[in-house]
Amino acid sequence: MRNKVRCLIIGSGPAGYTAAIYASRANLEPVLYEGMEPGGQLTTTTEVENFPGYPDGITGPELMEDMKKQAERFGTEVRSGRATAVDFSARPLKVTIDNEQVIEADAVIISTGATAKYLGLPDETKYAGQGVSACATCDGFFYRRKKVAVVGGGDTACEEASYLSGLADKVYLIVRKPYLRASQIMQDRVMNNSKIEILYEHNAVGLFGEKGVEGVHLVKRMGEPDEERYDIAVDGFFLAIGHKPNTDIFRDYVDLNEVGYIKTDSPYTKTNVEGVFACGDVADSIYRQAVTAAGTGCRAAMDAERYLSEKGL
Ligand code: NDP
Repeated sequence: MRNKVRCLIIGSGPAGYTAAIYASRANLEPVLYEGMEPGGQLTTTTEVENFPGYPDGITGPELMEDMKKQAERFGTEVRSGRATAVDFSARPLKVTIDNEQVIEADAVIISTGATAKYLGLPDETKYAGQGVSACATCDGFFYRRKKVAVVGGGDTACEEASYLSGLADKVYLIVRKPYLRASQIMQDRVMNNSKIEILYEHNAVGLFGEKGVEGVHLVKRMGEPDEERYDIAVDGFFLAIGHKPNTDIFRDYVDLNEVGYIKTDSPYTKTNVEGVFACGDVADSIYRQAVTAAGTGCRAAMDAERYLSEKGL
C-alpha cells in the first residue's frame, strides 16, 4: 500500500467524492479515506430529490455509492480509515490514519463535513429516517400539508421553520429559552408567519408513534414549580440546534472561523496552509447541500491540480 501520495482526500461525502473524480481524471492518483461515516451525512437521509440528474429521486446511500464507483472508475483508491492527526508543519504533509499509519501527501483535500447536533434522545435514533430529520431542505417535501416540529431558536431553526411553513400546514418551533437567539430579521419572519407557532420555554423529551413519528412529548418550564407536561401531534421532527464541523484534528494548523469552520480563500478552496484545500460542509456553514458540496469538491481538486503543477510535484 502506498504511503506517499500526491493527493490525499479526507472524507467521503459529496465533496470528497467529487474531488476524487476530478483529481483522478487529472491523473493525480488520489487516495481517499472514507472516515467514520462512509458516504457522509447523506447516508442518514432516505430519498434525495434535489440532486440534479435524478428526476425520479435516489436514496442517499445509493447516490453516495454511485459517486464512489465513479471516483474508483478513474483510479481513486478508496480506503477505509479515519484521519486521527495531522502534521502540516513541514513538506510533505503528514496525515495519521487510525492512530497508526502515517500517509505523506503533496496536497491534502479536507472534506470531513459537519455533524448535525441532536438532543441525545433515544427516540431520535429509534425514529431515524421515520420522521426525524436534521435537514428541512432535504426532507421537508415529505411533509406537505402535514404538521411538523422544529427544535432550536437560532437562525437555522427559524430558516428551517420558515421553509417548512411553505410545505406543511402547521409548524411548531420548540425553543428552550423564553426568547429566540436568531437575528432580528429571522425572528420577524417566524413571528409574522401564521403557520408557525413558537413554543417558548419548551423542551422535547421524547417522541411517540406506531409507524414513525406521530407526536412529541413536551415539557414546559422544565424544573420550575409550574412545570407542565403535554404532547403535540406531528408527523415530522426537525433538529436545528446547530452543526459541528469536523475540524478538531486540523485546528493547530488550519485557520478556522469563530464557530470552527475552515476558512478558505474564496472563491478558491485554499486554506492558510499551502497545499491544503477544504471543500464541502467543513468549510460551509451556510448552504450545506449535497450539490453545493460537490461543487466545492470540484473546485478543490482543480485548485490542488494547479498547485501541484505549479510546484512541479
Ligand atoms: P446556533 O448555535 O446559533 O443556535 C442553536 C439554537 O439551538 C439555539 O437557539 C440554542 O438554544 C438551541 N439549542 C442548542 N442545544 C439545544 C438543546 N440541547 N436543546 C434545545 N435547544 C438547543 O446555531 P444555528 O445553526 O442556528 O446557527 C449557526 C450559525 O450560522 C450562527 O452564527 C447563525 O447566525 C448562522 N446562520 C445564519 C443564517 C443566515 O444568516 N441566514 C442561516 C443559518 C445559520 P439557546 O439559545 O438556548 O442556546
